[in-house]
Amino acid sequence: MPRVIVVGSANIDLTVAVARLPREGETVSNGTLHVDHGGKGANQAVAARRLGAEVRFIGCLGRDPHGERIAAGLLDEGVPPEGLVRTEAADTGIALIVVDAAGRNQIAVAPGANRQLFPELVRGHADLVRWARVLLCQLEIPVPTVEWALATAREHGVLTILNPAPARALPDALLSLADCLTPNAGEAELLSGVAVSGPETAAEAAQRILARGVRRVIVTLGSQGALFCDGSAGIHFPAFPVEAVDTTGAGDAFNGALAVGLAAGGKWDEAIPLASAAAALACTKRGAQSSLPYREDVEAFLRALKR
Ligand code: ADP
Repeated sequence: MPRVIVVGSANIDLTVAVARLPREGETVSNGTLHVDHGGKGANQAVAARRLGAEVRFIGCLGRDPHGERIAAGLLDEGVPPEGLVRTEAADTGIALIVVDAAGRNQIAVAPGANRQLFPELVRGHADLVRWARVLLCQLEIPVPTVEWALATAREHGVLTILNPAPARALPDALLSLADCLTPNAGEAELLSGVAVSGPETAAEAAQRILARGVRRVIVTLGSQGALFCDGSAGIHFPAFPVEAVDTTGAGDAFNGALAVGLAAGGKWDEAIPLASAAAALACTKRGAQSSLPYREDVEAFLRALKR
């Protein structure tokens, strides 16, 4: 079985669906509550697990019922709790979301325990990093911890993928620890200074990012697919045509699937189409973690396309 380690965030998403968004100071009642599990780290771990990998997740939870809920949810998905760290210093991360009938939303996030995942809490889990074939990180946890994870993986010959989301400036020293960087258009723009609007500008941005020390870049371009660049010419992988109802979670599905494809020994031109197919399917359902597809769905989707 392909082995993937994810080091990242886990949140509870509390969404209240109401007829219209409240104005400042206003209360809107008659809403319906949906509780979902989120956080880019946990989402990507679940994405990888559903595609058939053996997955471990290093993340930080508070000592509260939300933390228990996340740990139980991961275990239900088949992700064991051995990499989970608990903190007294903060509550489990939460996103408070209000969504109206037209799908417009307001979101407030309290990262809480995710911001407490300091290197000293994870150093004891170096064995989990060594165990894996591919390591996957994002930027919803402290950057020094991301650096520890990438460096530890490098040291042990584990392939490193950094999904630089949410967008933030990063030092070259950190970028050079990534075997593959997977920015979306906005993140690629921030890291390269090139305005990204499609495959051509993405290739330009990728070249600039490669010059900063990354080995390979995949710029994801929403419905325009993904642009892969490893120093030679860029290769464009078009998106799979689907009826997209909600693109939340597309990036997480893409990254989780990419990690599985590579951990299974696949080449880049095999892993990227798998990632694109998983991401396209995630767009056909509402929700983030709940919309992540299973292996059999992705395989059926790819078979149907060949017919
Ligand atoms: P993020 O969600 O992180 O902003 P993107 O929007 O670039 O990332 O989407 C990630 C990947 O998901 C894309 O590279 C593409 O493969 C897939 N994807 C996104 N939107 C669509 C869509 N409307 N139709 C098909 N695939 C999509």
